[in-house]
Amino acid sequence: MKVVLLGPPGAGKGTQASGIVEKYHIVHISTGDIFRKNVKEGTPLGQQAKAYMEKGELVPDDLVIALVEDRLKQEDCKNGFLLDGFPRTIYQAEAMERLGIDVDKVVDIEVGRDTLIGRATGRRVCKQCGETYHVSFRPAKAEGVCDKCGGQVVQRADDEEETVARRIDVYLTETKPLEEYYEKKGKLAHINGDQDAKIVQEEIFKALGD
Ligand code: ADP
Ligand code: AMP
Repeated sequence: MKVVLLGPPGAGKGTQASGIVEKYHIVHISTGDIFRKNVKEGTPLGQQAKAYMEKGELVPDDLVIALVEDRLKQEDCKNGFLLDGFPRTIYQAEAMERLGIDVDKVVDIEVGRDTLIGRATGRRVCKQCGETYHVSFRPAKAEGVCDKCGGQVVQRADDEEETVARRIDVYLTETKPLEEYYEKKGKLAHINGDQDAKIVQEEIFKALGD
């Protein structure tokens, strides 16, 4: 199964991804996670992406496409994959098709602006393993310490309110047109993301055919 998770920053894509990949035995590919890892390690890709990410802008299409093309060629993608945060522009979606990569379903997690801002600004992540928390909705048991690995739990640099607002605007202009793009292909499933995460998960499973 080849699935795309669509939705604005803070919609719950990362949160939902773990249950989906576990159930369908597919690989989770988050372009944001890959970029953050490269920034942390100071690779050439990370150095190129850093300034865009800090401002809440999109990393240029060609950089992202090359990265995804390379990742999808790897052996572990043979059984299927879940793309989280890609494609983010019509250009990226078309490039993926030109590479012969066809997706089965696009799950669009819909959440209103005020909720998105509250979720993204309250998000905290483990520096070590990437586990996601929220100051109110999913706090770590001991503040600042990851329940899973004991790593340090911090706020993402781009989760400051001003940057979150910019990222939502970028989503609306650059990424939202993908909804119509995939709707026309009969691949889009609308999911109300403004509900308890467990209910969102059940609705996604239903949309993916259980
Ligand atoms: P995305 O990957 O779409 O940017 P995340 O999955 O990281 O979003 O979720 C953003 C924040 O909102 C996280 O702190 C997460 O714990 C929280 N969150 C995710 N889904 C829900 C939900 N259904 N209800 C409340 N909080 C949620
Ligand atoms: P995310 O973790 O998905 O919220 O992504 C964090 C940041 O990484 C984004 O704000 C962009 O700067 C960059 N990024 C991730 N995926 C893409 C993509 N497909 N196209 C362009 N930029 C991306």
